[in-house]
Amino acid sequence: MDRFKKIYDSSGRALRVLYINAFGLRNNSRYRQWERLLDGIEYTERLDREGQIRFVQERLSEIIGFAINNVPYYKKFSSLGKDLNASNVYKILEELPVIGKEDINREPEAFLSVGRRNYMTSKTSGTTGTPLYVRMDRYTFLLGDALWWRRTRWAGFEKGDWIARLVGDPIIPLRVKEPKKPWIISGLDRRIYLSTFHLSRDTAVKIGELLNRKRPAYIMGYPSSLEILSNYLDESGFEIQWRPKNILFSSEPMYTHQEKIIRRVFKSDIRGLYGSGEKVISAAQCAEGTYHLSLVDGYLEGQFGIMENRQPGLVTTLTNKVMPLIRYEIGDVIKAEPSFNCGCGRTLPVIDPVITKQEDWVITPSGRKIAPSAIVWAFIHQDIRGIHKAQVVQEEAGSVKVYVNTGESNFLKYKDVLKESMNKVFFDEMDIEIIRADRIDVKQSGKSRFVVNKLRRGFEDAAADPES
Ligand SMILES: [Zn+2]
Repeated sequence: MDRFKKIYDSSGRALRVLYINAFGLRNNSRYRQWERLLDGIEYTERLDREGQIRFVQERLSEIIGFAINNVPYYKKFSSLGKDLNASNVYKILEELPVIGKEDINREPEAFLSVGRRNYMTSKTSGTTGTPLYVRMDRYTFLLGDALWWRRTRWAGFEKGDWIARLVGDPIIPLRVKEPKKPWIISGLDRRIYLSTFHLSRDTAVKIGELLNRKRPAYIMGYPSSLEILSNYLDESGFEIQWRPKNILFSSEPMYTHQEKIIRRVFKSDIRGLYGSGEKVISAAQCAEGTYHLSLVDGYLEGQFGIMENRQPGLVTTLTNKVMPLIRYEIGDVIKAEPSFNCGCGRTLPVIDPVITKQEDWVITPSGRKIAPSAIVWAFIHQDIRGIHKAQVVQEEAGSVKVYVNTGESNFLKYKDVLKESMNKVFFDEMDIEIIRADRIDVKQSGKSRFVVNKLRRGFEDAAADPES
């Protein structure tokens, strides 16, 4: 892949368009596979609770039975096998240890089932900053992708709909500083790839004009990129002249201030997706705004109210026998809502929107954990405008740096106000430095985070990379 990236980057634009379209051809066959898979599991969206519990317990007992016989790490639990059956599997599950990324990285081979030769590898990183390579069979991988696609299906996708993407696709080489066309259009699968890395006031207007011309049914992006694009368009007085069916986001939480500006510019509903590179859990937002778990990929403890909903969330795969993750600490705080009935008619288990990754707190000297949604308040309650992007970084115990991407005059105007409200949010426990920055740390994947806590054992990139 790296080699291809080199060839791609050194090619001229015409060749790059060709590559992306060839990729689109391959995508079309993947979409067909996803559609078939989704048709096959559609009935799980409306099972009654009893039916769901049965569905999950059968698969859980199969996975656990398989693991204690075939996975070195779980062989010491083989005595559990004699009592294991579908009806008591939730009890047996509780006897197995909770595992985290560190446990797996300490002895990765121990988590691989014996004799498996064919597998795919999904790389994730996150909570500890340590990359984790999860090996899985083709079905698990495909199912994970299909479930992410299901969100678009729920949002009324019809054959022929165009989708614009602003999700860190590295389609324009970074050596091109100011591209005339910060996008590549793939006609074969009707995708518009927008360059997340080249967003500026200039390119935003060009992108706006392109969108007005092509009128894609969906715009898919990271909340931070959608926010930057919307802010630039808004400031330039640019009018979006059609209404997309939906704005779709993933990979980062969507904060209220981001939602506000994106809605103002695109006048469209927003639907989120929560996914994991490990392909053990995913949740998609329905028209009612509810996040529904998938039922088929993994089991979140607490989703039925049978087991306790522990934090961070504990998840067990229902499909992956190559490297079965059991009671795996996903690293996100996931609050199950087992008694919630959604108006959309789907009975799938419900979770609260996943707001914070575990490391995304600021921790004050007295031990208070301040969540990003609380820190955001410092920006919105004063109606501070003209800030393209902000990032709060904690590198030391008693201080934070607040980077704001905005013009000089705006910066002078709001600096003190911002500092004052930041003081409030942190209960006057932190030294706060407000810094004007031309660029906010955007990771290689094109994502950025609102709150970065560098104190907690190093830090890397966000965990999941849905639909990329
Ligand atoms: Zn619903």
